[in-house]
Amino acid sequence: MFDPHSIDPSLLQKMEYDALVWSSLHGLLVGDRASQKSGRVPGVGLIHAPISLLPMPFPESHWKQACEVAPIFNELVDRVSLDAEFLHESLSRTKKVDAFTSRLLDIHAKMIDMNKKEEIRLGLHRSDYMLDEQTNLLLQIELNTNSSSFPGLSCLVSDLHRLSNMRRNEFKSSISRTPLHILQQDACEECWDLLTILTCSAVFACKVSHATPSVCLIKLYLDNACLSVTPLKCEFGTLLLLFIVQTEGLDAVRQMMRKSLLHQFKQHLALDPERIPQNNSVSLFAEALYKAWAEYNNPRAIVMVVVQTEERNIIRKTLAEIDAQGELLPDGTLVVDGEAVAVVYFRAGYAPTDYPSESEWSARLLIEQSCAIKCPSIAYHLAGTKKIQQELAKPNQLERFLENKDDIAKVRECFAGLWSLDDLSIVKDAIERPGLYVMKPQREGGGNNIYDDDVRLSLQRMEKAGSEENAAYILMQRIFPIISPAILMREGISHKERVMSELGVYGTYLRNKTGVIMNGHAGYLMRTKVSSSNEGGVAAGFAVLDSIYLV
Ligand code: ADP
Ligand code: MG
Ligand code: MG
Repeated sequence: MFDPHSIDPSLLQKMEYDALVWSSLHGLLVGDRASQKSGRVPGVGLIHAPISLLPMPFPESHWKQACEVAPIFNELVDRVSLDAEFLHESLSRTKKVDAFTSRLLDIHAKMIDMNKKEEIRLGLHRSDYMLDEQTNLLLQIELNTNSSSFPGLSCLVSDLHRLSNMRRNEFKSSISRTPLHILQQDACEECWDLLTILTCSAVFACKVSHATPSVCLIKLYLDNACLSVTPLKCEFGTLLLLFIVQTEGLDAVRQMMRKSLLHQFKQHLALDPERIPQNNSVSLFAEALYKAWAEYNNPRAIVMVVVQTEERNIIRKTLAEIDAQGELLPDGTLVVDGEAVAVVYFRAGYAPTDYPSESEWSARLLIEQSCAIKCPSIAYHLAGTKKIQQELAKPNQLERFLENKDDIAKVRECFAGLWSLDDLSIVKDAIERPGLYVMKPQREGGGNNIYDDDVRLSLQRMEKAGSEENAAYILMQRIFPIISPAILMREGISHKERVMSELGVYGTYLRNKTGVIMNGHAGYLMRTKVSSSNEGGVAAGFAVLDSIYLV
């Protein structure tokens, strides 16, 4: 692979510019925290998502491994979720010191008392991995069963990397894929937008069906060769190409482009877009939600997305709103704002801050008591906690839930060292060599873990206090992935950084009373962060979205 830091500065500038235009046009966007209205008024205050300019090299064998274990992890979560005794036993000490986990367990216990059965179970998971450089092992960081983030944006990053940066060595293959360098001049306001679409349609060969007529004269510059098109009517990409073909003849245009482009991009990135795996995360998640909705079998019922207040994703209902507007019908139907709910998708509810009052907890309980399909149910939520991850890594625990020996071996191969803090020899070692461990509370969303010398200090403080507080945490072997150069884009500015990456593979799972309807891997999320940062969250501001380049 090439070194992104050594890319010719003028080429780099063009690539950055194109990536930003592409992101704006294709919705690779997030709410801009700098804008006051962002998150409150839809479509206002948007900014390109933090991204890596180029895909990250990743071994194909490990990519395949991560995909292969996804359905096994899905099945594992399902089996664990059915074992109330295992969940409560494993979390019993944590419950005493962690009020949040304790409330989740209370809801779960209530459901057990009510003999509440979840017959249709939907899981939209993401299992995260880092590739440990020294051992060359793909080790699981965690398994998310709640609000698995970024299926909507990660697939766009893969598209961006496949279609945009790669195109520079693609121009030979077809005229419709040939990059055109179009200068936008003398365009009226209406045409300005159209031109931007045109730039992309020509460059990225995506068909523009929504282009509207324009009567403006627009001059198109193909480097030195100036072509004019008038008037532009519709289907811009098609029309433009037809025009060029008619004027110059296909071969002449090809030759001209080759010449001008070779001149323009002296340095080509010899990358093959086919080595970036197709990423269908968003459609596969949508398909799973749809199929769950279909299983519920009430065409009038809705899919409800539970969000945080000031959500920078598209807003549906907050827990407080559900508490205010929701009710349970005698048959168990959840009705919110007059609508029967088939599926509840939680994009919130994983953090204590999502429950600022009792209102949010009653909403969670109301949802759990209903016959709506929950993603996740309270049992799936608990099965995705870090404590359960650590308990499952103990000898003979996987065997409780999985029968197939191969499956068990494949899952175990991904487990890093995981320990409870009542393991005194590990605690002693972690105090002596804190840099080799990560200390994790039962929290989600990034920014909660303890690293380096803080591990030692926290362990010593807890030892001294002799309290039960240590039950809130687990200890994990610290994974050290390879460090490589990359170009990260934030707020329109590029940064040359030394980085490390974390691969998440999404999984979709749906079953009903009689059997499994869906169980597979469902696209991926590559996150890349500067190597000096311990934490990895994109929303938390530590990492950027990336894709993988198989090597
Ligand atoms: P969360 O649920 O908050 O995302 P994680 O377990 O994923 O919690 O930890 C957050 C981040 O901390 C990860 O994205 C990763 O960058 C880093 N991290 C977590 N565990 C380890 C580990 N064992 N070794 C190295 N880094 C880790
Ligand atoms: Mg998590
Ligand atoms: Mg994580």
